[in-house]
Amino acid sequence: MKTLEIDNLLEFDKEHIWHPYTSMKEPLPVYLVESACGAVLKLESGEELIDGMSSWWCVIHGYNNPRLNRALKAQVDKMSHVMFGGITHKPAIELSKKLIKMAPMGLEKVFFADSGSVSVEVAIKMALQYSIASGRVRRNKIATISGGYHGDTWHAMSVCDPVGGMHSLYSGRLPIQYFVPRPSIGFGEEWCSDDFLPMIDLLENHHEELAAVIVEPIVQGAGGMWMYHPQYLKELSLLCKRYDVLLIVDEIATGFGRTGKMFASEWSGVVPDIMCVGKAITGGYMSFAATLATAKVADVISSGEPSVIMHGPTFMANPLACAVANESLLMLDESSPLPRIAEIEAIMLEELDKAKECANVKNVRVLGAIGVLETYSPVDMARCQEEFVKRGVWVRPFGRLIYIMPQYIITDDQLVKLCRALVDVANIDSVFQCSHEVR
Ligand code: PMP
Repeated sequence: MKTLEIDNLLEFDKEHIWHPYTSMKEPLPVYLVESACGAVLKLESGEELIDGMSSWWCVIHGYNNPRLNRALKAQVDKMSHVMFGGITHKPAIELSKKLIKMAPMGLEKVFFADSGSVSVEVAIKMALQYSIASGRVRRNKIATISGGYHGDTWHAMSVCDPVGGMHSLYSGRLPIQYFVPRPSIGFGEEWCSDDFLPMIDLLENHHEELAAVIVEPIVQGAGGMWMYHPQYLKELSLLCKRYDVLLIVDEIATGFGRTGKMFASEWSGVVPDIMCVGKAITGGYMSFAATLATAKVADVISSGEPSVIMHGPTFMANPLACAVANESLLMLDESSPLPRIAEIEAIMLEELDKAKECANVKNVRVLGAIGVLETYSPVDMARCQEEFVKRGVWVRPFGRLIYIMPQYIITDDQLVKLCRALVDVANIDSVFQCSHEVR
C-alpha cells in the first residue's frame, strides 16, 4: 500500500476510532496490519513482524491456520448463527463433550459466553444464585487476591486489583469485594505457609458473607504477570471446602497449555467448583468463552428460586465459534502442545536469562510459554514499540512489564529473535519513562 494511503487510513483511525485504554485526544501510535500468517504479522507498509503477543494470548496455532480456516468456512455454509433458546446444534454439543473431557474432572455443566469478561460475569452470577438457592442470602460477596485481572465488565472489574484496576475510577460504584495480598512466594521458590495466612484469616472471619473466591490459577496475567506457588492454590481449594465457599478459577489466560499444563489448576491438582475458559478456545479466531461448573453447583441453582441461570446472550454458543473451537481443541487432542511448550520454555529460560545483567531489569520470570522481564521503571509505550518494530518483532509491554506469550507454532529461530529483541530493548534507557529512577 502506498504511503499516502496508509497515512490517510491512520489519520481517520486517529480521529474516529477508540483503541483499548486509549485517549481520543492524544492516542498512542498504531500500526496498520495487512495480514497475518503463522507467527508473523505483515504491515501495510510491507514490514513483517514476529508476533510475541499471540494477539493478547489467544492465537496458539498460528494466524491463518489452514485447519481452522477450513472448519470456519465449512460451518458458514451450514449456518453462521442460530439462537440458542429452544434450539441446539452439533457444534455446541461436540464442543461441550470436548471441554468436559479436557477440563479437571467433575466440571461437567457448560455455559457458553461471548467473551472472557462475560464468562466471569456468568461465574459470579452462578455463585450468587448458588447462595440464594441454598438459602444463604447473606453470602453475597466475592473474595480474591490482589494483583488479579478478570475482565472489564462490571463484576469482573470489581475483583480486579484494587489499586492497579479501575476501583479508584469508579470508586463508590463498583460492588465492594474482599481482597487479600497477592501470594508473595513465586513459582519454583520454597513454600512457606505464612504466605497463606491472610486468606485463612479472611475466610475464618468472613465466610458467612462469601459466595465465592475467584483467582487466576498460578499465573496472574494482566494484573502483573506474577507466577505464584501451586501450594497456595491447593491450600485455597481445601480452605474453600472447609467453609463451603465456592472456588472459581479464571483459566481464560492460562487455559489450553499456556503455563505448561493443559489447565494451570493442574499444577495444584485442584478441581474448582466453577472454571472460566476463553481466549485460546477458538485458537484466537473470534471472541468466545465458556463457564464450566460442577453438577453440584448446577443442581443447587436449579433446585432453588428462580431455578434457572439468569443469563442468555444473543450470540450464545455461536455455531461459527463452536466449529472453530472444536477444530482447535481437536488439534490439541491429536497432538499435545505440552512438549513444544516445554521447548519454548527452555529457549526462553536460556535467552531471557541474559536480561538479568541488564541494569533496567529487576526480575526475569518464565513459565510454560510465558516469558517476562519486570523492569524498574515503567516503559514509554510508544518508544518501546518503535524499537521492537525496528527489530522486526511485535511486543506490547505495559507498566513495568516487557513480556512475550508466543504462539505454540513459533519456530526456534523466530523465538530466539524475539527473546534477543526483548533483551536488546530492555537495555535502552530511553524506552523507560524515567530511566534515572533509583534501582
Ligand atoms: N480473565 C483473564 C485472566 C484475562 O486475562 C482476561 C483478558 N485478558 C479476561 C478475563 C477478559 O477476557 P476478555 O478480554 O475476552 O473479555
